[in-house]
Amino acid sequence: MYHAEVTPKVTADVVIVGAGPAGCWAARTLALLGARVTLVDGSHPREKPCGGGVTGRALALVGDAFDRGALPRSNIRAARFVDSSRRISTHVPLADGDLMVASRTDFDGALFAAAAAAGARIVRARVTDIARDASGFTVTTDTGAIRARTLVGADGANSLVRRRLARPFDRADLSIATGYFVRGVTSDEVVIELLADPPGYIWSFPRPTHLAVGICAQADAGVPVASLRATALDWIRARQLDGGALDAYSWPIPSLSAASFASLTTSGPGWYLAGDAAGLVDPITREGIYFALLSGEWAAQAIASSGALPERQYHQRVQEEIGAELVRAARYKAGFFRPEFTRLLAEALAQSAGVRAIMAGLVAGTQPYATLKWSLARTAEFGLAWRLVRSKWYNQRSVFKE
Ligand SMILES: Cc1cc2nc3c(=O)[nH]c(=O)nc-3n(C[C@H](O)[C@H](O)[C@H](O)COP(=O)(O)OP(=O)(O)OC[C@H]3O[C@@H](n4cnc5c(N)ncnc54)[C@H](O)[C@@H]3O)c2cc1C
Repeated sequence: MYHAEVTPKVTADVVIVGAGPAGCWAARTLALLGARVTLVDGSHPREKPCGGGVTGRALALVGDAFDRGALPRSNIRAARFVDSSRRISTHVPLADGDLMVASRTDFDGALFAAAAAAGARIVRARVTDIARDASGFTVTTDTGAIRARTLVGADGANSLVRRRLARPFDRADLSIATGYFVRGVTSDEVVIELLADPPGYIWSFPRPTHLAVGICAQADAGVPVASLRATALDWIRARQLDGGALDAYSWPIPSLSAASFASLTTSGPGWYLAGDAAGLVDPITREGIYFALLSGEWAAQAIASSGALPERQYHQRVQEEIGAELVRAARYKAGFFRPEFTRLLAEALAQSAGVRAIMAGLVAGTQPYATLKWSLARTAEFGLAWRLVRSKWYNQRSVFKE
């Protein structure tokens, strides 16, 4: 049982809509900084469609907010990159602590409990409307209304806060992910199978009691969800992983273009967007949990600061420190998912320890895109890596200028 639960009709300094990683972390940070913060979400306990991959950098952010030893999780020892059309399968070792995989029921539940334990008020309700006036916001929920001077939208890819106070994501800035939770199977390696059609990859992330298998495509690419899901199901069946229950899921992932990352919508007078609601997901690896935690923390720090124009401070920080890195990922994306590149990548992975180390860094979130091209070029197998760099570089140069 979480303490500090309240019935609605509360007045708060800050209302946070959505208790995923962004909202829970913003709520905990604000509560520890002494703010009267209310966290609204009626969904817990719940699963979220997600791989559940939590990188070392995301874990470092949450520190000792909860007992990590008690969190059911799979410690991942390796990533396996597969190109089945060429029968190439490469085992890429990961360092201890690079990546763990957990169910989002457990991971988000621990963050939710940590926010409540820090003193955030919990309102278990769904927000149905938001109205702004001169003195703040009225947040209408299915169980009552809440007034606040400051509002944080941490309500995910379909964010109501974003829709009410700014505008929803363009379809071109979303991808649709679908797949299955494959019960009764686990592992200590993630599998990333490179695909030519649709361009991208299938992933299998092992949680303690099941695999999260998924595939995604850009929402405006014209690939029906049913056909993506059929590809995922064929993949599962071909590996005879379908002995237990298969629970299907589909969910949008913000996958912004370089132009959209260069002009993020993050805040306005008295309001902030964090995590998926702000579009902060790596469009290549789909890592979003780290950026959700980080932006939640930064929104909380801006709100609690005594500086002028805290919304602008927050915007600048997100734009300069997250947006700038993800712009590069978005520029690389088109090249990354082209069949010529994935073919070369599969070969390079099989032959080059240097390329394997760099791809391990991408999976673990430790290889910055700013230095990716030159990291590849510096590997010992220079000729192979250079062909890789040139193919990617030329692909993306034709669309974007660096
Ligand atoms: C298939 C898939 C696989 C992924 N794999 C990974 C991965 O392995 N690793 C990784 O780092 N990222 C992954 N991501 C991305 C990751 O899931 C998100 O980036 C992350 O969950 C964002 O956190 P958030 O707190 O911003 O939003 P969310 O986690 O989406 O949380 C939003 C919360 O807001 C609540 N909410 C929504 N609307 C309302 C409302 N009106 N009123 C009240 N509450 C509301 C929801 O119930 C939810 O609890 C994946 C995404 C998908 C779809």
